[in-house]
Amino acid sequence: MVTTSRPDLTQPAAKPSEIVIRTDDIHKYYELGETRVHALRGVSIEIRAGEFVAIMGASGSGKSTFMNILGCLDKPSSGEYLLDGIAVSKLSKNELAHIRNQKIGFVFQGFNLLSRTTALENVELPTLYAHISRAEGQTRAQDALKLVGLGERMLHFPSQLSGGQQQRVAIARALVNQPSLLLADEPTGNLDSRTSIEIMDVLQKLNAKGLTIVLVTHEPDIATFAKRTIQFRDGKIRQDELVADRPVAAEVLRQMPVLED
Ligand code: ADP
Ligand code: MG
Repeated sequence: MVTTSRPDLTQPAAKPSEIVIRTDDIHKYYELGETRVHALRGVSIEIRAGEFVAIMGASGSGKSTFMNILGCLDKPSSGEYLLDGIAVSKLSKNELAHIRNQKIGFVFQGFNLLSRTTALENVELPTLYAHISRAEGQTRAQDALKLVGLGERMLHFPSQLSGGQQQRVAIARALVNQPSLLLADEPTGNLDSRTSIEIMDVLQKLNAKGLTIVLVTHEPDIATFAKRTIQFRDGKIRQDELVADRPVAAEVLRQMPVLED
């Protein structure tokens, strides 16, 4: 089904109490020839609409494996994953692709933009796959770029943008189909500290408008901009807690010296 309504990030995507993500004892094995890697060892979690969760943990602890499952890019070996109440394991490949396109926006460490197309065209692209009209797609893409502060740079090519701006284009692209969930795997991994905080500022503002966000980071100071942190170790959740004294990224930026690009 295709929704033609305009993105309205001023309204929460779901009631605040609604459970967006629920995993129940998820295990994930990777078979590599003779060896078997047990990447997730029983992960149970609930994330509600409007949450902003940072997933932390050492390299190899299972963060990306878990994110790929949350994003329906991969399936658990056992255990259940409910996304907006839907049991993902029971869905066909086509249904999964549909859910991914409708409900989830992705942002990765490498911005994954097409280099020969403008910011606007990069952001428009997912609307083509969603069978949204060209005119509507363009309007949505413009709105999404304005939302991340790139209204003045829509016709720039990726090479004409800084790393932080490219990541904002990637965030706009992730938002253009109005997902209820944004998944970001190390979105600040390639960025300097100030630019990283600028990205966290964008994410905090989107979250304040109701978008549910799950972010992976290995940087503790970046994680504190989220509302809740979950620590992974050896494929298990080791700690799950609310962030006390969460800094406002916009405030932190105001107090930081500006460095020239
Ligand atoms: P993180 O993102 O926390 O660094 P990953 O989820 O990428 O951790 O990896 C968890 C474990 O699973 C690691 O031991 C990793 O080597 C293994 N792993 C991840 N992806 C694959 C894959 N596609 N095939 C085989 N093993 C994998
Ligand atoms: Mg990873």
